[in-house]
Amino acid sequence: MPETDPDDRHGRTHRLELADQSLRAWDASVVDSTAAPDEPGIVLDRSAFYPGGGGQPPDHGVLLWGGVQTRIVGVRKGDDLVLVPHEEDPVPPPGTRVRGAVEDARRSMLMRTHSGLHLLCGVVFRDYGALVTGGNMEPGTARMDFGLDQVPPDFKAQVEQACNVEVAADRRIEVSLLPRSEAFAIPDIVRTATNLVPPEVELVRIVDIAGLDTQADGGTHVASTRQVGRLEVAKVESKGRGFRRVRLRVTDP
Ligand SMILES: [Zn+2]
Repeated sequence: MPETDPDDRHGRTHRLELADQSLRAWDASVVDSTAAPDEPGIVLDRSAFYPGGGGQPPDHGVLLWGGVQTRIVGVRKGDDLVLVPHEEDPVPPPGTRVRGAVEDARRSMLMRTHSGLHLLCGVVFRDYGALVTGGNMEPGTARMDFGLDQVPPDFKAQVEQACNVEVAADRRIEVSLLPRSEAFAIPDIVRTATNLVPPEVELVRIVDIAGLDTQADGGTHVASTRQVGRLEVAKVESKGRGFRRVRLRVTDP
């Protein structure tokens, strides 16, 4: 593990980060590019830039080629994954060999934050039976919405403590690929109904925190819960009947 999925492609790009979430630098060729000032973009044959999705924002990084550096500041998702260069940087022409690199600080913090959200989701379901209705994240901060009618007065402190117990337990976080029918036979996959998997997807990527949370998920995660660091429940907001928003901060232990 992880296995190779023939679907690890988006248009003409082989997505390397799906099979190796620790990959930060790689060689690639430019298969297409445009330097048009209104919409510059670069398509690589191989890319480890997470393009964004499932609440996780896209990676930043650089392409190194011919002695220059092109900063990558975003991704446009269409038929192809189009990397968006910084407006002041040169665009490599098609055929150029480049060295790609993902900005480690941002991605690693996003992996910790994303994994922390899974932990929160697992804890709140286990202890309060509440389902997730939405969520979002930036490096080091995140929010998750739950359908939850009643909360005890010390809900915030209880959730924070339970989350950090799970961090300390150092549970493994594993990614696997399952045929659709097998994936949807897992009760946890059914309950995280916000992650709708398109019907044409035959192999479903499953992210499993052993004993705590299992989700169908395409994002990037750390390998065990201890790597998340420390989780702080910054705020619990009531957004209307049965709607609680939990704001999370990820810090160093
Ligand atoms: Zn995830």
